Amino acid sequence: MPLKFVKSQKVKQLLINNGYLHIYYKKGSDKFIWRCVDYQKYKCSSCFTSTMDETGTIMKESVHYHAPDISNVQAKIVIEKLKENALITELSTRNIISRTMSTTEVGVVGQLPSITSMSSTIQRVRTKNEKPPENPLTIHDLVLPDEYKNIHGNNFLMYDNKKENRILMFATKENLDTLHTFKNWMADGTFRAEQTLQEVRLEKLISGEPSPKKKKKYKNHDEMILNVVQKFNETPAVLYLRGIAQNIKF
Ligand SMILES: [Zn+2]
Repeated sequence: MPLKFVKSQKVKQLLINNGYLHIYYKKGSDKFIWRCVDYQKYKCSSCFTSTMDETGTIMKESVHYHAPDISNVQAKIVIEKLKENALITELSTRNIISRTMSTTEVGVVGQLPSITSMSSTIQRVRTKNEKPPENPLTIHDLVLPDEYKNIHGNNFLMYDNKKENRILMFATKENLDTLHTFKNWMADGTFRAEQTLQEVRLEKLISGEPSPKKKKKYKNHDEMILNVVQKFNETPAVLYLRGIAQNIKF
């Protein structure tokens, strides 16, 4: 029976046999030698050998010191299938995950990584193969690959609060330095119809002009923003942006 493999993040491939995973250990004169992936965790010294020809037949195997973890092995196979679907289908991340979950046994589902982690895996696989991430249905579905978070080796995604009311801020340190040299800031965005323009006029506030009459809660946030801006030179960029983001209330 040909050998059965599953890919792993850390090593190229793991060999599956009777619910156990094995990692390539070394090459003998006429055989490959594999050892248990849990050789450290359980001090398991189980090894087995396989032929070097195309049949890849198991020649000799020894007993493991621990029970097999079939669900874990199944979970690895499921993740491999998930990655494959990310590449060969145009389905959304959410669709791939829900399909995967619906065809996976309950006992194995518990061994799968979190949905966020699986979303990242799908995005990573797609990015690696130059497939741009699909448009997310909601801001919570947005998973940014690393190449979208950095620019010329520096942070471009400066802030992500990862909360229900998700705020992402993109900037470079140079952008912020430039912005800080100007007294007038313009803000743009998509706002709900009932919001008045008065509430989004940041430029007057930053330049120190008296802003139009506002409700007290907005005034307090304005003062906090002004306070953050005045401490620009003594605040790390991320804290600076976070300070502003947390006080922008529309
Ligand atoms: Zn073992």
